[in-house]
Amino acid sequence: MTQLLVAGGGPIGLAAAIEARLAGLDVAVIEQRHGTIDKACGEGLMPGALRALNRLGVDPVGRDIRGISYRRDGHRADHPFAHGTARGVRRPVLHVALSRRADELGVERIEGKVGLLSQDDESVTVVLRDEAVRANWLIGCDGLHSTVRDLVGLASPPRGRRRFGLRRHFAIEPWSDFVEVHWTKDAEVYVTPVGDHNVGIAVLGAPGTDYDRTVSTALADRIDGAPHSSDLRGAGPLRQRTRARTAGRVLLAGDASGYVDALTGEGIRVGLAQVAAAVRCIVAGDPQAYEREWRTATRDFRMLTSGLVALGASPARRAIVPLADSLPRTYGAIVERLAR
Ligand SMILES: Cc1cc2nc3c(=O)[nH]c(=O)nc-3n(C[C@H](O)[C@H](O)[C@H](O)COP(=O)(O)OP(=O)(O)OC[C@H]3O[C@@H](n4cnc5c(N)ncnc54)[C@H](O)[C@@H]3O)c2cc1C
Repeated sequence: MTQLLVAGGGPIGLAAAIEARLAGLDVAVIEQRHGTIDKACGEGLMPGALRALNRLGVDPVGRDIRGISYRRDGHRADHPFAHGTARGVRRPVLHVALSRRADELGVERIEGKVGLLSQDDESVTVVLRDEAVRANWLIGCDGLHSTVRDLVGLASPPRGRRRFGLRRHFAIEPWSDFVEVHWTKDAEVYVTPVGDHNVGIAVLGAPGTDYDRTVSTALADRIDGAPHSSDLRGAGPLRQRTRARTAGRVLLAGDASGYVDALTGEGIRVGLAQVAAAVRCIVAGDPQAYEREWRTATRDFRMLTSGLVALGASPARRAIVPLADSLPRTYGAIVERLAR
């Protein structure tokens, strides 16, 4: 029996556990995978995400990023962040930094896959392969394909076009200190410097998008012949919908609580804001307040990212970068809202 169980030991699950320990709760994290975890991700930690991690006592090493640059057919729109810098951080590096902080604070770690869950007025019970674990509360942080979300009946049917993300790293000197988003005809190529000799390139697009062809169309002059420094990894469908974020003593956070798209690179910033809110509501014994706080924390992400994805799927797609270029104040204001 513990006060809080966290299902999923990705960045948001570990952050939830750290947040809970800092609030004085006993907490255990259940993670199905062993060792250091990597994942398909653009790996750009926005200035707001870095500030939130620093508040938790976590400062992962990486490569500083000064802003966001949109590119298409000779057009470009650059916006340097007004407050602070972002950072390109490899996911295993982020995992180790969060794990160390969690261990330092005495977070209990359980290796196992959450497959069964029941709850009553007092507690939540999770059944792993050979044991049952009970807690007063559970936060489901088990990612895009959340089992917890399904088990408590909070999933909503998928809607809209399905998009996927693919990523790989190249052993090459970063050529920019901006995250570059190259808008090709039907996919976005998202370049994040993550080290002195390491650049991550993610491709976002429809099922079946050819990674190598898309990357070489957008960046042939930059990466031709550069050796790979990681395997190709994918994730998706990106859009995941939920009908609510709280069911009794179970709260959802991170990608498990619903996800729009990776296009604006702020899943981690939003997830960190969600777990801060979830722990606040648990400590206050008021899980229903989380619903309101979740909506506030995700409003910009839901509105702006959905809007941009819809525009990208419309005939106006080819006008996005020229428009951002000709309206620098509007483009800058949108980047600032998402970077907070
Ligand atoms: C291509 C791409 C690019 C992206 N780029 C960016 C970016 O630049 N910046 C940014 O901030 N965000 C980005 N994102 C989003 C970001 O990757 C996610 O928002 C983030 O990983 C969410 O973290 P999480 O902990 O909620 O989920 P995850 O990272 O998916 O972690 C979930 C964890 O739960 C575990 N788990 C799952 N099921 C169970 C179970 N039943 N029992 C126990 N454990 C379980 C998994 O093993 C995993 O470790 C990108 C996403 C994609 C796909």
